[in-house]
Amino acid sequence: MIAYDLKCDQGHLFEGWFEDADAFENQQTKGLVTCPVCDSAAVTRQLSTFAIKTSTGSGADRPKIDFEALGRRIVNYVQNNFDDVGSDFATEALKIHYGASEPRNIRGVSTDREERMLREEGVPYFKFPGSSKPPESGSGDDSS
Ligand SMILES: [Zn+2]
Repeated sequence: MIAYDLKCDQGHLFEGWFEDADAFENQQTKGLVTCPVCDSAAVTRQLSTFAIKTSTGSGADRPKIDFEALGRRIVNYVQNNFDDVGSDFATEALKIHYGASEPRNIRGVSTDREERMLREEGVPYFKFPGSSKPPESGSGDDSS
């Protein structure tokens, strides 16, 4: 089962559960997906969640994205525009969050424990998958 964020032509937002993407397409085409508020069948999917999917084979008419080049550009941008604070990332992020440090872009590494703490404090940060982490003893918690 998958959940989709849906929106009708009256602007009502609701969630729909479907067997898979094809089931949604089928039901939508037949007008079986209706708004629980106004019963409108003019329902579209809200792409609120960031997701990318590379396709192999079909969809050859779509422009190809060079993810490797894109990744390099992002990494370059971050390296040129963000202060490297290394393993002090969580501490620095907190300081900036609470105004104890000058607001600026920073990058660095953090442990799972520090990331949890940042989330609890409501500090916005973005994590690149595969970034290196400092070793943290006593944490066998890798729930990803
Ligand atoms: Zn509606």
